[in-house]
Amino acid sequence: MPRKMKGKDNDMGKVAIYPGSFDPLTYGHIDIVERALEIFDKVIVAIASNAEKRSLFTVGERLEMVKTIFKDTPNVIVDSFKGLLVDYVAKTNAKVILRGLRATSDFEYEFHMASMNRSLNTHLDTLFMMTSKDYFFVSSRTIKEVASLGGAVEGLVPDLVVRRLKEKFKLPVTKKKQIGWDD
Ligand code: ADP
Repeated sequence: MPRKMKGKDNDMGKVAIYPGSFDPLTYGHIDIVERALEIFDKVIVAIASNAEKRSLFTVGERLEMVKTIFKDTPNVIVDSFKGLLVDYVAKTNAKVILRGLRATSDFEYEFHMASMNRSLNTHLDTLFMMTSKDYFFVSSRTIKEVASLGGAVEGLVPDLVVRRLKEKFKLPVTKKKQIGWDD
């Protein structure tokens, strides 16, 4: 019998795992979660604690921010994990890894990761959602870069993240500033 016809798996509701660094969470990420909730019963935002990747915020700080931001959305679970994503997914009842795709530059890395994860666990699939037009240029990396230089990131990340970035970079809470080539 084809695996998809075996039945009972689906009775627990459709769960997707949305893994990433979320260093920090942006409206691009939130948009993907909100759209995924139209398809899945539950989305687990899984913050990767990867020692090799230098992060601005600690896993604890990221957990606190993401949990606060989704506190009124009961079907979003926020968690963190260490090690292989497939091992973490195996501990949940999720069958789908959710990832967002921006420009073509995301494609190669995402294609390799999805293929590797599928080779590690053939029961897992990765589902990609295209970025929304409002957020195609938003990445955690550019947010950190702009914020560190005192540029305005309001409207691209939640207010809580704006405040935490200002605290991190020891910047005063000031009016919007555009960064230009001369700054
Ligand atoms: P990584 O796991 O590479 O550290 P991030 O934590 O930055 O990635 O993001 C997690 C996932 O969200 C990735 O699949 C990434 O491509 C996606 N993503 C990030 N920013 C956006 C955005 N603005 N629009 C759509 N998807 C995004």
